[in-house]
Amino acid sequence: MSKVATRRIRFTRRDALKLLSVGGAVGAGAALGASELVHAREREVINECRLCTMHCGFIGTVRGDDVVAVRGDPASNTKGFLCQHGKAIPEIVHNRARVRRPLVRAADGEAFTEVEWERALDVAATKLAAVKDKYGPEAIAVQTGWPFVRHPMIHLLHRFCRAVGTPNLATVASLCEASARMGKSLVWGGNYSPDMAKVRTLAVWGSNPVRSYPPWLSLVAQVKKRGKLIIIDPVRTELANLADEYLQVIPGTDGTLALGMLRHVIENDLYDKALVAEHSLGFDELRTLAKPYTPEVVAKTCGVEPGQVTRVAHWLATVGPPGVWEGLGIEHHGAGVDTVRLVSSLVALCGGAGAQSFHDRKLDEGAPLPLLLPVDQQEPIPPAPEKRPVGFDEYALFCSIHRQAQASVLPKAMLEGTPYPVRALVLFGCNPVVTTPDAAAVKRAYQSLEALIVVDPFLTESGEYADVVLPAATFAEQPPLRFGKNAPTERDELPIDAVVEPQARARPDARILADLAARMGLARFFPWSDIQAAFASKRSSVVDDWAAQHLRAAPDRGVGARYPTASGKLELSSTLLPRFGLPALPVVVDPPAPTPEHPLRLVTGPRQRAYINSQLHKVGAITRLLPEAHCELHPDAARAAGVAEGERVAVITPMGRAVFRASLSTALRPDVVVVPHGWEGEANANLLTSESGLDPISGFPRLRALVCRIEKATTTS
Ligand code: SF4
Repeated sequence: MSKVATRRIRFTRRDALKLLSVGGAVGAGAALGASELVHAREREVINECRLCTMHCGFIGTVRGDDVVAVRGDPASNTKGFLCQHGKAIPEIVHNRARVRRPLVRAADGEAFTEVEWERALDVAATKLAAVKDKYGPEAIAVQTGWPFVRHPMIHLLHRFCRAVGTPNLATVASLCEASARMGKSLVWGGNYSPDMAKVRTLAVWGSNPVRSYPPWLSLVAQVKKRGKLIIIDPVRTELANLADEYLQVIPGTDGTLALGMLRHVIENDLYDKALVAEHSLGFDELRTLAKPYTPEVVAKTCGVEPGQVTRVAHWLATVGPPGVWEGLGIEHHGAGVDTVRLVSSLVALCGGAGAQSFHDRKLDEGAPLPLLLPVDQQEPIPPAPEKRPVGFDEYALFCSIHRQAQASVLPKAMLEGTPYPVRALVLFGCNPVVTTPDAAAVKRAYQSLEALIVVDPFLTESGEYADVVLPAATFAEQPPLRFGKNAPTERDELPIDAVVEPQARARPDARILADLAARMGLARFFPWSDIQAAFASKRSSVVDDWAAQHLRAAPDRGVGARYPTASGKLELSSTLLPRFGLPALPVVVDPPAPTPEHPLRLVTGPRQRAYINSQLHKVGAITRLLPEAHCELHPDAARAAGVAEGERVAVITPMGRAVFRASLSTALRPDVVVVPHGWEGEANANLLTSESGLDPISGFPRLRALVCRIEKATTTS
């Protein structure tokens, strides 16, 4: 196929004159030369929005070097859909707050100075090399965020780390989605989500797809028509009003609720007996584990009615194939992976196997290394690092599956030197001061570093601690790569362009990485002109022995094992976790109980419709929608603290204090306070969170089951 993706619009001299006169430059047309005409010509370029994993196709209208408009591309996978974030692309690209030139901190350590690229790269590479020489390569860490989720850059970042010799790449997997993927994979052998064309009973559990996944809503409505819709969430979300049953659980008690439902299904003989007899492991142990979780016990712990527990369990097992759309609401607790395992076991025992859509591998496909996520590398493949990543001692399964460090414990390695010192950090498209638990410790850690290099289109709060800031191009200034499409269309065959060239002195991330590597004497590992060329060359999946050593499948599980787990069976009790020194059966960890000093329960981190995590907080079209961070609290709690709607409220936990604008809501439990994440400054939710009590399997932070008190905040407090 040889369609051309860049379409020239017919543009006449008369059009150019009209354009100039609209801009108030009447008369300028008389002097308009040929080059100005070419410059003013409009063209349309297709591309993909990469602000979230939907990858919506869009058509950008470009005049000269300006993206003047975007609209959804009807020929793309997403059929012309473009949300408010995608529509803001012109303002993202041409934003005045962007870093326009490389910045290097002045010798006095105070202000940044604008410098040319050569100087900035030299300073960055020299600092990194000095740390490597002094402490070893593992003292350099690289961290990346949401922009490179399911993006080929992740493979290049792995490559950079291998080339440097450090095992310490950390990604957003340290706190997003990985617990769910691990929990589901431990039970079923692979990650999955409910097939919305097949499920008849759907539980939306700790998730609000109205905010996190808007196109999904129409599918939820269809399920509701043919079966049952159940919402489980401490907040009465928009979907709860459509639900057949809404369970307003106490935050962090989801594991107990799942055990209560499992007990009901097992004790009432409602489970899939053929599955249990022929294809599962650990049923009797799970039955024993669930036994004490009577409806009354569960109701008391979870803050729901006993009848709700049994009714929902009964529906899941009897109405038709069940599915659970779970979110971070059940992952950010003391035992999020095990909670997901319990929910997964519930779906399996209730007959949900045929109604799930698997992401990475087919259900009956054997895998010699269950759970392992592939990392692609081209020749020459850099040697494997000698040391294990930071976090491996505590979260070996997480580090092994993802082959990366756990970001939540990186600040500790910087501050305390355990398990070894980390003295330099390169941040690619992330803002850990805002996204990592215990923001105060993160700031102290960054102040202690010998080199902090930040690659980002914007100067973030993390960037303010940097020695060097390198201005990255946005996705619209780089040609995207096609990958990871569930349903490729004809359009995916089109060669597509960057919408515009990188603005000011910005450069594509892949080029920055290659330039840094070259200055560190590692050019042989980055021989390509750009990321397109890198991914056009042959590559293969790389598995390091240290990551694979505990993940091997049982040699006797047989060809054609039903599930791609270590045993080939559905693992209600894990055969893999004991290899990592972890309990085979799921563990339930209760949330911390409120105290007289901190009498309320705090949930941090629900998504806000206006923003995508910490992104877009400097884009006017978005900030106008929500200029301030709002704390949601029940009117009773607000009244007790003397706080009125719209007033500033301080939220205080044992870790710290953050200030928000009060937003009163009866959609909350009276004892629950909810604050958003992704805000810098005094509204940074991670000023309230802690690095202790991490999930023992994934190292995920406990962001949604905390305790707090609230106070009216004066302008000076
Ligand atoms: S941010 Fe919006 S437009 Fe962009 S990919 Fe996601 S849903 Fe699509």
